[in-house]
Amino acid sequence: MLAHPVDLDVTGYGVRHSSAQASVVHYNFMPRLLRGLERAVLVWVVAIPLMFIPFLAILVLPAAIGLSVYLIYSRMHAPDVARACKGTCPDCGFEQAFDLPLKFELPLDVECARCNRELRLEEHHFAN
Ligand SMILES: [Zn+2]
Repeated sequence: MLAHPVDLDVTGYGVRHSSAQASVVHYNFMPRLLRGLERAVLVWVVAIPLMFIPFLAILVLPAAIGLSVYLIYSRMHAPDVARACKGTCPDCGFEQAFDLPLKFELPLDVECARCNRELRLEEHHFAN
C-alpha cells in the first residue's frame, strides 16, 4: 500500500485559489475487508469482558454488533484513504494540514484552521 501524491486546488469564498497536495492510499477489496475486520475485532476485545457485568450485556451486545457492522461497512466503502493533506488557504494564506474524512472523495469540503472559512478541495485544473 504505497501512498501516491494527488495535486488539488483549494477554493474559498473569493475568486482566488491555492494548491494542496494529498497523500492517498488505494485499497483493493481484500485489504479493505481486513481493515474493517481489524476494527471489528478491536470492538469485540473491549465488548466481551463488558458482557460479564450484569445488565450491561443488554446494552453492550447490540452496540458491539452495530458498531462492528458500521466499521466494516465504512472501511469497505472507502477504497481511497488520504493519509495527509497539506495546503494553503486562498483567503488568509495560512499553510496547514487539513483534516480529512475516512473516505477520500472529491470535491471535499474542509475548514481553514485560522480563519474558519469553508474551503473546497477539488481536482487540480487551475494553472498556477
Ligand atoms: Zn484561512
